[in-house]
Amino acid sequence: MDKIGFIGLGIMGRPMAKNLLKAGKALVVYDVVDSAVNELVSAGAERGASPAAVTGATSLVITMLPNSPHVREVVCRKDGILSAVRPGQIVVDMSSIAPLVSRELCGLLEAKGAEMLDAPVSGGQEKAEKGTLAIMVGGKEEIYGKVKDILDLMGKSNYVAGIGAGQIAKLVNQTLVGINIAAVAEGMSLAQKAGVEPEKVFNAIRGGLAGSQCLEDKAPRMFEGRYAPGFRINLHIKDLGNVQETGRALHLSMPLVAQVMEMMQNLAADGHEMLDHGALGLFYEKLNSISLKKSSL
Ligand code: NAD
Repeated sequence: MDKIGFIGLGIMGRPMAKNLLKAGKALVVYDVVDSAVNELVSAGAERGASPAAVTGATSLVITMLPNSPHVREVVCRKDGILSAVRPGQIVVDMSSIAPLVSRELCGLLEAKGAEMLDAPVSGGQEKAEKGTLAIMVGGKEEIYGKVKDILDLMGKSNYVAGIGAGQIAKLVNQTLVGINIAAVAEGMSLAQKAGVEPEKVFNAIRGGLAGSQCLEDKAPRMFEGRYAPGFRINLHIKDLGNVQETGRALHLSMPLVAQVMEMMQNLAADGHEMLDHGALGLFYEKLNSISLKKSSL
C-alpha cells in the first residue's frame, strides 16, 4: 500500500496516526486545527492542504472525526474526499457516527468506484496511544482483508458484517457501557443509604457475576470522586443520540437508554459534560442527597 491519508488529529486520531508513522507508514495528514497538523508533521508526516489534497496523494484515507456532520462535510464539501477519490481507492471512517450516515457516504463513494469501511473504535486515549484499541469493522470483507494489517497497527480489528455494522457494534458497546455505569452507581447508592460502605460491597461482589470492566474502572472513581476523563459525558451523549436515532428508525423501544440519556443530560445541564461518564455517580449522589465517597475521604 502507498501513502496513507489521515484526517482528524484529535485526542484519538493523533496517537493513532503516530502509531502508523512508528510502523514506518508514510502519512499525509489534515485537520482544521493547525497545531495538531504541526505535531504530526514534526513526527514525520506530510501536510495535506485539504481532504481532497490528502485523497489525491494517497491510496487509503482514514478519517477520525467527532460525529456524522463532520464526516459528511469532509467527504462531501467542495474540496472534500469525494471530489478527488479514484476508482479502487479505500476510505476507512474510524469515527463513531450514525450507521445510516456510514451507509449514505459509502453509497456516494461507491458511485465513484471507490470503497468504504466503517471501523469505529473502543478503548479511549490510553489504548489509542498503546495501539491496543478494539476496532469494529463494517463493509465488504474483501476490502477489510486489504487494510486489516494497517488497522491492526492501531489495535485489534474484528470484522462484523456489511457497511454500518461496525457502527452498530459501537452503538451496542456504548449502550452496554452507559447502562452498566448507571447500574454501578444505583447499586452503590443502595449500599451507602443502607449504611454499608460501598467499597466493602465492591470488594465482596467484584469476583461474582456482577463483576465487569465497568465495575472495576468506575466504582473506584465514585469512591474517590475521581472524574477526570477517561471518556467524556458529552461524547457519550453524542453516542446515545446515535443509538436513539438508529432505534427510532428501526421502531425499537430502548427504555434503559432513554433513562441513562436523561441522567447524562442532567449532568451536562449542571456543567459536568467534560467529566468522565463515571460521573453518573454524581447524578445519584444529587438525586439521593448522599455521598458515594469513601468514609475516609
Ligand atoms: P476530538 O474532538 O479530540 O478530535 C476530532 C478532531 O477532528 C479534532 O482535531 C478536530 O479539529 C478535527 N475536525 C473536526 N472537524 C473537522 C473537519 N471538518 N475537517 C478536519 N478536521 C476536523 O475527538 P476524539 O476524542 O479524537 O474522537 C474522535 C472520534 O472517536 C469520535 O467519534 C469519538 O466518539 C470516538 N471515540 C473517542 C474516544 C475517546 O476516548 N476520546 C474513544 C472511542 C471513540
